[in-house]
Amino acid sequence: MSQLAHLAEIVGSDAVLTRPEDLIPYSFDGTAALKQRPSAVVFPKTTEQVARCVKLAMDAGTPIVTRGSGTGLSGGSVPSPDCLVLCLTQMDTILGVDARNLTLRAQPGAITQRIDEAASRHGLFYPPDPGSQRISTIGGNVAENSGGLRGLKYGVTRDYVMALEVVLADGEVARLGTACVKDVAGYSLKDLFVGSEGTLGIITEVLLKLVPRPAARRTMLALYDRIEDAADTVSAIVAARIIPCTLEFLDQMTAGCVEDYARVGLPTDCAAVLLMETDGHPAAVADEAAQMESIARANRALDVRTARDDAEALQLASARRNAFAALARRRPTTILEDVTVPRSELATMVRFIAETASALNLEIGTFGHMGDGNLHPTVLTDERNTEEMERVHRAFDSIMKRTVELGGTITGEHGVGLAKKPWLRQQMGDASYMLMKKVKQSLDPKGLLNPGKIFD
Ligand SMILES: Cc1cc2nc3c(=O)[nH]c(=O)nc-3n(C[C@H](O)[C@H](O)[C@H](O)COP(=O)(O)OP(=O)(O)OC[C@H]3O[C@@H](n4cnc5c(N)ncnc54)[C@H](O)[C@@H]3O)c2cc1C
Repeated sequence: MSQLAHLAEIVGSDAVLTRPEDLIPYSFDGTAALKQRPSAVVFPKTTEQVARCVKLAMDAGTPIVTRGSGTGLSGGSVPSPDCLVLCLTQMDTILGVDARNLTLRAQPGAITQRIDEAASRHGLFYPPDPGSQRISTIGGNVAENSGGLRGLKYGVTRDYVMALEVVLADGEVARLGTACVKDVAGYSLKDLFVGSEGTLGIITEVLLKLVPRPAARRTMLALYDRIEDAADTVSAIVAARIIPCTLEFLDQMTAGCVEDYARVGLPTDCAAVLLMETDGHPAAVADEAAQMESIARANRALDVRTARDDAEALQLASARRNAFAALARRRPTTILEDVTVPRSELATMVRFIAETASALNLEIGTFGHMGDGNLHPTVLTDERNTEEMERVHRAFDSIMKRTVELGGTITGEHGVGLAKKPWLRQQMGDASYMLMKKVKQSLDPKGLLNPGKIFD
């Protein structure tokens, strides 16, 4: 029996795609200028089906690329040549909320926002909120260790993963971690799989920690003439021992594009906009909001506006979530980067990005999670223009190198995938890079799980 016939037997013939026109949507992810057609796409519905597909592919020496919604921004789910794509979007059930243990169990294809909605029905909260939360899957979030707008106060996906079910390269199913708050039995293997970008195994179930839903929230906008003043405000708020849930930054170009797109009343004539949000007990929220406003004014904010009600707060937050889409309307190709620097180096980094853009005559809008030091310099370009793309690559090379010099990291949340491979070794150093390779080798000796990702 051919491999395709075998696959159809495992998942059903309606869950296998092979026609070229059907494969096109699975030939790229959210990363610009990266494409590769797979040989087939399958949609398993159970862990057992995933395990059988993996065994079959391993025996035949066929590479496997696991895929969620394909919103990744480092090329993680871009197929490798002749690979089989395991697309897990049909394994999308939220299996249950356990309000006594503050946990939620879900299949990997469950959409991130639905996870928080399910938690919310029990007065609970799943905080990690990547900008893509309306479409990204929880499996993709775990595999990328995704962050979001609330990372400063609540942390990232890793902080909420209690246990995973994983199909290993040999098709065996392993359960890693438990529902216990304290658990130090053996190596923390589930942590190895968080952020492993589909290169070590396939996540088929997740057990997530939930927290009580905050009772109140206040959202504010602070406007600045100078980016440095926005960065100083962030440092001063943190130094005042206030940890807001959100401190998001948009430069003038990004604010202009967002306003043009979403019409939420963002100012387009100031150098920087800071979206600040605090949540928690109503009394604490009122106190923190007042302190944040006066810190912003003391750091030369031109104006500080508070959202009048929940609807306006939501509108401002979703305007920020739409920054990528808003910038993408301007030129045919949008390349979004993801560097993170220590917060003390934020102003230096933002200035360096602006200088690089002007030296290379490129349009770069910068926005990001300023409270985390995580910036998204976003180049608006046209991948058909080879001369301009060459300048884009030079700009990214300079930005990556400067990031590492400043003690930062080449990716704060989007992962290495294909896009960041050239700089990984430089950031990690030889010893830790080789250690990672040994881990990969021992868990995937044939090198068939998402080959070509992370490592050169
Ligand atoms: C508009 C927009 C905004 C974004 N905002 C953010 C943000 O704020 N923060 C952030 O961190 N990211 C953000 N992203 C990036 C992206 O949404 C995240 O990386 C997300 O976690 C990817 O989820 P996905 O389901 O689309 O995964 P995919 O893109 O399909 O896959 C991502 C990686 O995970 C692997 N993978 C997927 N599912 C599994 C699984 N079950 N088991 C093993 N490996 C698996 C894939 O092989 C691949 O390497 C944004 C993207 C877009 C387009």
